[in-house]
Amino acid sequence: MDFSFSPEQERFRQEFRSWLAANLPPELRAYDTHFDFVPESVELFEARRAFQKKMFEARWMGIWWPPEYGGRGAGLIEQFIYDQEYHRAAVPMLPNFPHINQWGPTLMTWGTEAQKRRFLIPMLSGEETWCQGYSEPNAGSDLASLQTRAVDHGDFFMLEGSKIWTSGAQWADWMYLLARTDPTAPKHKGISCFYLDMKSPGIELRPLVTMAGHRHFNQVFFDKVRVPRKNLVGPVNEGWRVAMTTLTFERAISGGSGHDLQVRRLAELARAVMIDAKPAWEHQWVRQRLAQLQIDCEALKYSALRALTRQLKQLPPGPEQSILKLTGSELVIRIVKFASELLGNYATLDSPSAAVPDAPRWLNLILNARMLTIAGGSSEIQHNILGERTLGLPKE
Ligand SMILES: Cc1cc2nc3c(=O)[nH]c(=O)nc-3n(C[C@H](O)[C@H](O)[C@H](O)COP(=O)(O)OP(=O)(O)OC[C@H]3O[C@@H](n4cnc5c(N)ncnc54)[C@H](O)[C@@H]3O)c2cc1C
Repeated sequence: MDFSFSPEQERFRQEFRSWLAANLPPELRAYDTHFDFVPESVELFEARRAFQKKMFEARWMGIWWPPEYGGRGAGLIEQFIYDQEYHRAAVPMLPNFPHINQWGPTLMTWGTEAQKRRFLIPMLSGEETWCQGYSEPNAGSDLASLQTRAVDHGDFFMLEGSKIWTSGAQWADWMYLLARTDPTAPKHKGISCFYLDMKSPGIELRPLVTMAGHRHFNQVFFDKVRVPRKNLVGPVNEGWRVAMTTLTFERAISGGSGHDLQVRRLAELARAVMIDAKPAWEHQWVRQRLAQLQIDCEALKYSALRALTRQLKQLPPGPEQSILKLTGSELVIRIVKFASELLGNYATLDSPSAAVPDAPRWLNLILNARMLTIAGGSSEIQHNILGERTLGLPKE
């Protein structure tokens, strides 16, 4: 296997790196991007949106999208380099993260020409923002059990029900959602996919605050909300197939990112904090734990490259996406667990002090890490997928 990049690919890396160095306002940098993609204030939301517009105008948003929708039609290696540089520069997740990676390609696959022309460019530029309305109070892992109804009235569907864990709904102009259109059909049938104007009458948002004190998500209630028929994406009652397109893209990106940067930060922490009257770093067991975490990062990197190789050879998707989701999210848990061991009681500090100068970053990471093992398909579900589809074990 050849891990080197061609001169042209290195030039591409340099071009993106230089552009970010010149254009990313330092105050927008976000170090723990996956936990911070729903801004807390309207000011931060608008500042990120303005930066998204700037990236879009320089054609640095959605580089893998086709040029007619504002992308560069970039290949897989460029995407890989792009992601590395994005995290290296601590670019925050911008307003339409993760929809550019999930809903954009879904709309390209299932949308009509008119839908693609109407929505794709404003999504990429950040002019319009989206949220995902899939999960419901009794339909998460078992998404096909969803109960929100969309009753056919000819020109429109009438929506009744609720969605939960809707990240960033408070900032969204549009929601893409699944609703049951034929309650008599088996549960994976009779579901349709729609998009919905979040200003439609009958929508109510109730904030859901995480244990880190952040309004990341919402429960969204629909009381006789009218959805025009033209807002259907894909054929009526075929929404499950549309949803599978979105979820395939979602799994690929939801194991977290920048693990090696976190381990490097952990090594710095180990030099700074004292355990038994000497810097933690001077204890052999601390260095061994750090070495093991670095080995795990390398293993993750090579699994990602294996997935990339498979894609480059245009082979059908293998188990790598589930492996990356599972091991990436579980590695974040191990990293934060070790951080809390190093920091002891100081781990709970929520403002900078001599002992923890970069507080509350570690606290936020510790409190938020668990979300990665749930969002985008929980670890147990990934175990099931790997057991049943890859190892051929009997179904649960
Ligand atoms: C940070 C975050 C952001 C999210 N954002 C969105 C969003 O924007 N839009 C959206 O629609 N959803 C969103 N979700 C919801 C997410 O998709 C669900 O939380 C996820 O699918 C799990 O569903 P659930 O929460 O209903 O848990 P459940 O499905 O009820 O699972 C509960 C527990 O049971 C386990 N379990 C369930 N079924 C099995 C099984 N068959 N075998 C073994 N164990 C099982 C699970 O692993 C889990 O531990 C978000 C979630 C998080 C954490």
